[in-house]
Amino acid sequence: MSARRFSQRAWDQRFQAAVARAFATVPYYREMWAEAGAPLEEPVVTPVARLDAVLDRLYPLARPYERQREEPGWTGEPGELMEALKLTGDYRGEPLFEVRRALLDWERIGRARYHVVLGADAEVADPELRAAGVRAFHAAREPALLGDPAQIAALPAHPGRARVFLRRSLTDLGTRDSRHGEVVHDPRLGYLGGRYRTCGHVHLNWRRVHARQSPSGPLLTLLRRRRPTLAGISVPGTAHLGVQHCPEHGTPILREVAS
Ligand SMILES: [Zn+2]
Repeated sequence: MSARRFSQRAWDQRFQAAVARAFATVPYYREMWAEAGAPLEEPVVTPVARLDAVLDRLYPLARPYERQREEPGWTGEPGELMEALKLTGDYRGEPLFEVRRALLDWERIGRARYHVVLGADAEVADPELRAAGVRAFHAAREPALLGDPAQIAALPAHPGRARVFLRRSLTDLGTRDSRHGEVVHDPRLGYLGGRYRTCGHVHLNWRRVHARQSPSGPLLTLLRRRRPTLAGISVPGTAHLGVQHCPEHGTPILREVAS
């Protein structure tokens, strides 16, 4: 992993640019100025659970959300997942099978094939869909598998070799299973980073995600995603997480700090 291009100052400038763009073009953030009666430098903190209720207002005025035509806003894009996997230091571009509760029409992440295996908890009417996903996973040669620890445990084991990656929530970073790679995920913010194999720290994907320390934990801003635009988002249960720099790599990490 290279820290060559990370600069705290440039990272903060990108955050400020994202915030300025949000205030200028996105109704939800513009309204904050009206409510405050003055221009703000930073958005009012939005708890992640509130995002569903304001989704319609998180899209730029010039290109509003089209509920009929667009996927739900929280899916993100394949690059976010691929970069999070790479941040583990363990992903080598294997075909990826992701255990999910719903299908997703991605075909590739980077150059690798991408497949969904429906979890046992999936909301599908047709059980054959899940069985077909499991069969495709078992038929793949040296695939990678990604899912919540419980989803992975519930899946019949691959007959050959499969590289397993666990999906961890921000509130669950204190647990580490060193047998597997780990990526950090939030249902609305998407894939945020990965735990790097050698240093063991949870690295943020700083090219896409900005984090700023606050008393309630890291405040997260997605630097590239505009549909929806997410800035100053807090995740309940993360007050124990600090935004620091990895002693080995020099890039931003989230780690538990003594309270
Ligand atoms: Zn590191």
